[in-house]
Amino acid sequence: MSSVPEGRAAARSGPAARELSGRELAAEIRAATARAAELTAAGRPPRLAVVVATADEASTWYVRSLARTAVKAGIACDVTDLIPNEPDRPESQQATLVGIRDALATLSGDPAVDGILLQTPLPGGARLAELASFIDPAKDVDGANPVSLGRLMTGLPAFAPATAAAVLALLDHHQVALSGRRAVVVGRSAVVGKPVAQLLIGRDATVTVCHSRTVDLASVTREAEVLVVAAGRAGLIGPGHVAAGATVVDVGTNAVLGGGLAGDVDPAVAGVAGALSPVPGGVGPVTTALLLRHVTEAASGSVEAASGS
Ligand code: NAP
Repeated sequence: MSSVPEGRAAARSGPAARELSGRELAAEIRAATARAAELTAAGRPPRLAVVVATADEASTWYVRSLARTAVKAGIACDVTDLIPNEPDRPESQQATLVGIRDALATLSGDPAVDGILLQTPLPGGARLAELASFIDPAKDVDGANPVSLGRLMTGLPAFAPATAAAVLALLDHHQVALSGRRAVVVGRSAVVGKPVAQLLIGRDATVTVCHSRTVDLASVTREAEVLVVAAGRAGLIGPGHVAAGATVVDVGTNAVLGGGLAGDVDPAVAGVAGALSPVPGGVGPVTTALLLRHVTEAASGSVEAASGS
């Protein structure tokens, strides 16, 4: 008798998907990070520097929340705000590219700084990969420098982009098997889609990457036993895009009119999928926790280098 792969089982009806919550995992990572922050402090707490280059409400909220979480985990967090203070000229609410590059280079050379995050969105026309190349890869805790991405691609030690790492950590935490399984990633950005695909390949999944020019998206995503969606389009993936029993990770965070967040996956997918990560409360909290863990890891590296070991 031939067995039916989990992702291709007969369709069911009604809400059935197991919730792939990230909250418990994030709390575990934060607790371990706080312990590591004490151990690696060597006279000072690990320090994260966040560079903000545009006035953006969602970004401001995120940076505030990140700073609060950092302090709770024993990590100092400094925000370098490069936005010119010229309220009469709203068009000037963006840092200059030279200003961003100089700030990143200065922080990279500052021995008191362990990790650097260049917050998005960036000023119009700026490319994250170009600017992030001014972040020392040893301090590149969100894996944005092309050197970090290249090292990730070739299997060398590097900080992976925290969101991509969070997708894998969430799947592992919920014991979703990856080896030999068919994975589909929707989205091909350098910060989420591509590194997620790379990490899945590294775990022996067979990976297809979709994007806005993919023809008949649903026919591709229905092939997935593990589906990761990072498109930034609320409700893009509906029940018709998902095989019965598939595991679905929703990376999307889309602002909803009137407040709140919506994922890229329609909640009705819970009636078809075997497991589904919520938004909020799925990938998001794990991303923040991993970013902070990377800061303590970067701090350990610099402590080791400084002591010559
Ligand atoms: P992005 O740079 O805008 O990339 C979006 C990707 O989705 C692109 O590759 C795009 O294709 C693809 N796409 C857009 N519309 C599509 C469609 N209709 N069908 C198929 N593919 C489509 O966004 P990102 O930075 O990767 O972020 C993606 C989402 O993740 C956003 O909602 C973002 O807010 C969220 N996010 C969440 C976290 C977290 O911690 N939870 C962290 C980072 C980002 P093309 O390449 O063809 O344009």
